[in-house]
Amino acid sequence: MIDLFDLIDIHQQGQIGGITALQANTDQRVTKQGAAAVDLERRYEHLRLLTMAMWKLLKDRTGATDADLRECVEHIDLLDGKKDGKVTRHRGVMDCDSCHRRILKTATVCVYCGAKNHQGDSFHPT
Ligand SMILES: [Zn+2]
Repeated sequence: MIDLFDLIDIHQQGQIGGITALQANTDQRVTKQGAAAVDLERRYEHLRLLTMAMWKLLKDRTGATDADLRECVEHIDLLDGKKDGKVTRHRGVMDCDSCHRRILKTATVCVYCGAKNHQGDSFHPT
């Protein structure tokens, strides 16, 4: 015969199972975010290496100076009217609302995470 304590045990076991599943899901997301951060750092280091190599080649072959580079960076930064250390985005691209990677505005879904792109969708609330 099942008594009140058995019912409470069954209920608690169900809750523990739910929490365990939630914890496993959280662990998977944390692991995935950690892998994404490692990949981002690897890509950053590769771009940094390429930039340094290109700058050395340019300096060696053209005689350009660091002052020339700073002036050029400032000029490009100001092309959008704001000195904010950023390059103006191309009008045809945007950041995905879900993963924040750069995607085409005309894309119906993000190529990285598969989230729907609601840009230009009049029926989707903003
Ligand atoms: Zn995305």
